[in-house]
Amino acid sequence: MIGLTVLGSTGSIGISTLDVVARHPDRYRIVALTANRDVDGLYRQCLQFRPDYAVMAHRDAALSLEQRLKEAGSSINVLAGVEGLEHVASISDAHYVMAAIVGAAGLLPTLAAARAGKRVLLANKEALVVAGELFMQAVEQGGAEILPIDSEHNAVFQCMPADFSHGLDQVGVSRILLTASGGPFRTLSLDQLQDVTPDQACAHPNWDMGRKISVDSATMMNKGLEVIEACWLFHTTPDRIKVVLHPQSVIHSMVAYTDGSVLAQLGNPDMRTPIAHALAWPERIESGVAPLDLFDVARLDFEPPSLERFACLRLAYEAIEAGGTSPAILNAANEMAVDAFLSGKLRFTDIPGVIGSVLDTLPGEHGADLDTLLAIDESARRRAEQLIRNRV
Ligand code: NDP
Repeated sequence: MIGLTVLGSTGSIGISTLDVVARHPDRYRIVALTANRDVDGLYRQCLQFRPDYAVMAHRDAALSLEQRLKEAGSSINVLAGVEGLEHVASISDAHYVMAAIVGAAGLLPTLAAARAGKRVLLANKEALVVAGELFMQAVEQGGAEILPIDSEHNAVFQCMPADFSHGLDQVGVSRILLTASGGPFRTLSLDQLQDVTPDQACAHPNWDMGRKISVDSATMMNKGLEVIEACWLFHTTPDRIKVVLHPQSVIHSMVAYTDGSVLAQLGNPDMRTPIAHALAWPERIESGVAPLDLFDVARLDFEPPSLERFACLRLAYEAIEAGGTSPAILNAANEMAVDAFLSGKLRFTDIPGVIGSVLDTLPGEHGADLDTLLAIDESARRRAEQLIRNRV
C-alpha cells in the first residue's frame, strides 16, 4: 500500500485527489489530510478516509475538529499550524505527498516533503514561483521526485523524453507550448472588464477550480506563474516557452522537437486525469474521467495572447526577466490583490496596477535564503495592502 498525505484536502484539487484514491482502495492509504479552517469538510473526509493524522493550519479550527472527532469516537491525531503540516508532509508512512494548499502558504510543507525525499505531486505552483531555486535544491538533496499536477505541466511531462533533466537541447526539444484557455473574459472589451464581479471571474468556461486560481485564470496571471513553474520543472528559460491561447482546453500543452514533431496531450478538462497520472506513474490507473470524444469537440482553435489585454501576464514576464526575488514579490502582491478583488475591495481591472506598483517599489534581490524570501513575501503583502487601502 502506498501511504499518501493530502495537503489542502478540502480544496478543489484535494477533493479530486480523494475521488481518484477512493477508486483504488487496494493501492493507496491516506496517512494525513489537511485544511486551513474548513472543519466540516475535514471532519467528513476524516470519517470517510480514516487517516492517521488530520491537520488544520488554523489553531482554533484544529481544537474544534479534535472535539468533534472525539465525540464521534475517532482516535485520529489532530495537529495544528505550520509545524503540523510540515510533520505530515515529511512523516515516514507517507510515501507520496499531494501538495495542494493554495498560495505561498503551501511553501513550507511542500519544502518539507521535498527535503524528506517524497514523491511530491505538485499542484501548489506558488511554492516554485516563490522559492524555485531553493525548492529544486531541496528536491535534489532530499532525493525527492516531482510529478506535476498542473494540467499543462503534467501534459508537458507526458510529452517529454524521459531524460529531459539533461537539458532540452540534449534531448532534441526545441520549445514547450503552454496552452491557456484565456479564462471567462477572453472576448470582453476592455471597458466591459471594469465591472466584472468575483462570481463572474470564478465561472471558468472549462474548468471547475478554487476561487484564487479561477481569478488568476481570468487575469492570465495563472499562465505567468505557470511559465515560471515550467522553467524550474523542465530546466529551461522563458524564451523556450510559448503561451498559446486555446479556448477549448482540450490540448493541455505540447512539446516541439527539433525534427519538426510536436507532441500533444489531450483529454477532457478534468483534474482527475493529471492526478491519476501522477499517483500511478509510470503505470496508468482509472480516474473516473469520461473518454474524450473528438467528434463532440469538433474544432480546436489557437491564437496568441495579447499582453495589453492580459497585463498580469506581462508583469509575470517582467518578474522572470528581473529574476531573484521578483517572482516572490509578484506572487505575494497577486495573492493580496486577488483576495481584495474576491472580497469586493478592488476592481478586477485594478489587480495589475497593484502588482505593478509593488514590483516597482520593492527591489528584487539575488541569492536570497529562505528567511529572506519569507521576509520579502511579508513586505510585498504589506505594501500591496497599503495600495489597496488607498484605492478604496
Ligand atoms: P482551493 O482554494 O480549492 O483549496 C485550497 C486548499 O488549501 C484548501 O484545502 C484550504 O483549506 C487549504 N488552505 C488554504 N489556505 C491555507 C493555509 N493558509 N494553510 C494551510 N492550508 C490552507 O484551491 P485549489 O484546489 O483550486 O488549488 C490548490 C493549488 O493547486 C493552487 O496552488 C492552485 O494554483 C493549484 N492548481 C489548482 C487547479 C484546480 O483545478 N483547482 C489546477 C492546477 C493547479 P480550507 O478549505 O480550510 O480553506
